[in-house]
Amino acid sequence: MTPEVKPLVAGNWKMNGTRASLDQIKAMAEGVKGDLSDKVESLICPPVSLLYVATALADDSPLKIGAQDCHQKVSGAHTGDVSAEMIADCFGTHVIVGHSERRTDHKEDDALIRAKAESAYAANLIAIICIGETESERKSGRTLDVLKAQLAGSVPDTATAANTVIAYEPVWAIGTGLTPTVEDIEEAHAFMRAELASRFSGEGSKMRILYGGSVKPGNARELMAIANVDGALIGGASLKAQDFLSIYGAYEELTA
Ligand code: PEP
Repeated sequence: MTPEVKPLVAGNWKMNGTRASLDQIKAMAEGVKGDLSDKVESLICPPVSLLYVATALADDSPLKIGAQDCHQKVSGAHTGDVSAEMIADCFGTHVIVGHSERRTDHKEDDALIRAKAESAYAANLIAIICIGETESERKSGRTLDVLKAQLAGSVPDTATAANTVIAYEPVWAIGTGLTPTVEDIEEAHAFMRAELASRFSGEGSKMRILYGGSVKPGNARELMAIANVDGALIGGASLKAQDFLSIYGAYEELTA
């Protein structure tokens, strides 16, 4: 955790979920009502097919709804893409950009991710910018160099603590059940904090840095207690309200 920074517990449903899954969003929206929501923010990013209905379901709840990607342009001939403006039009508040699955599947590079984040700002969305090393980069001792380069390349100069969240997701920890050691996460987050503070001064000191990669109810308390870990980006365990709420609930003790 970072003193005076409100943590964010965010779920990324990826390409999972149909209308039948909206019951889970309803349960999450109910489950985050209560005093803890004054201290911790919560967010679910369902597939864009569910976005508009999900925002309506969460309308009277502190649960925020976001999207998993956006195009860098506002509109135009880009079949299959969705702009940040369209996400905002559906009352989405956040958009994930640069998830490793998009970096790999769609060959997205830092410059494109930076442009997507800028388009998110223009639509008044909060950009969740994902970075993280691959297994071979970690094994060859290049983790911090990769994080430095991705932060420099993917995060726009106009980033602030209000419009940007960084998500550190070691690629080898996503969906694998593996997590780095507490010491490794601590080192990576301290490094990113120093980089952000040196580039953005006060804003960089307050910018949220989430950890993502096999966060589960069973390890959430330990991971969320690490210095400079300001919440989680959760894949698999965010699909079920019970698991998501249990991870969110780890902050009961941590913020007591
Ligand atoms: C993710 O998709 O961003 C992620 C961290 O997935 P999981 O929690 O399933 O590892």
